[in-house]
Amino acid sequence: GGAHSSTAAVQATNDDAATSKLSCVNKGYIKDDYVHLFVRKQIRRAPIINRGYYARWSVLRKLLLQFLNTRTDERKQILSLGAGFDTTYFQLLDEGIPPHLYVELDFKEVTSKKAAIIEHYSQLREKLGPDASISREKGEVASSNYKLLPIDIRDVQKLDDMINITQLDPCLPTFIIAECVLIYLDPASTRSIVGWAASKFSTAIFFLYEQINPDDAFGEQMIKNLESRGCALLGINATPTLVSKERLFIDQGWQRSVAWDMLRIYDEFIDIEERRRIERLELFDEFEEWHMMQEHYCVVYGINDHKGLFDNFGFP
Ligand code: SAM
Repeated sequence: GGAHSSTAAVQATNDDAATSKLSCVNKGYIKDDYVHLFVRKQIRRAPIINRGYYARWSVLRKLLLQFLNTRTDERKQILSLGAGFDTTYFQLLDEGIPPHLYVELDFKEVTSKKAAIIEHYSQLREKLGPDASISREKGEVASSNYKLLPIDIRDVQKLDDMINITQLDPCLPTFIIAECVLIYLDPASTRSIVGWAASKFSTAIFFLYEQINPDDAFGEQMIKNLESRGCALLGINATPTLVSKERLFIDQGWQRSVAWDMLRIYDEFIDIEERRRIERLELFDEFEEWHMMQEHYCVVYGINDHKGLFDNFGFP
């Protein structure tokens, strides 16, 4: 408890995410050849949960590909805050489109486990090349193109030091990911992280996926569910709506900012052929519940674009 809504409980939300993503993989919603290595016990999720995770995975994937496909001579970087057991780096390698540098940060308890799993499985370890150094004790992985570091991201001084340690170049185009992470932090920490990133990276996109709209019945239930498992959405009262999420980014120095809820994203951004494909995978009749749930998640992105690279980036 205390300064952080119970650290152990927040870390457990990562196991939840990996388990749900694996459930999606097993049902054919998403392709991820590595997430199974990070899950001890496979659990089949309800169709509505699978569809929700599919939408979450799909929107991040689509925006990430827009970024990676942006024409420029410069090398690209991805920085993932609270990365958990995310496997995107390995997936991008297989697809032949990894960025020049991919950096992941999380609590040491999480990065140690991740480092141990990467060390254990040759299909992960060998992808990092012969020069990679992996330490479970330190919770660190360092290779030329991929780095995993234990950092409490609320410590902005440490974030700043991390730039040198990982050799991130603040001038290069950078995609920052915060997928279900900042919502667990106190509002002041979130503001300082978003502001730090704005002042540090001049050509960047900051992608945020998380809960909104805590004030109706569904929202209250959503918060209660997490609280009953020992962790609270500390950030949700500071930026509870789409408008306040957009403002968070503008107030903290980002040039532009856009926030959509996941209902709109599913209907207007996710490819129609993909939607048709995944809607055939399982029987689904929870339409009312689906609409309510999707109105309680959003994507916000902030853009800093001093070189004019990202004119075509984002939602239509
Ligand atoms: N981003 C991953 C995903 O979407 O699959 C994991 C999401 S999980 C819900 C939240 C993650 O944020 C956990 O791995 C947790 O340890 C991490 N996290 C929360 N607070 C953090 C902090 N202050 N510093 C570093 N990591 C943090």
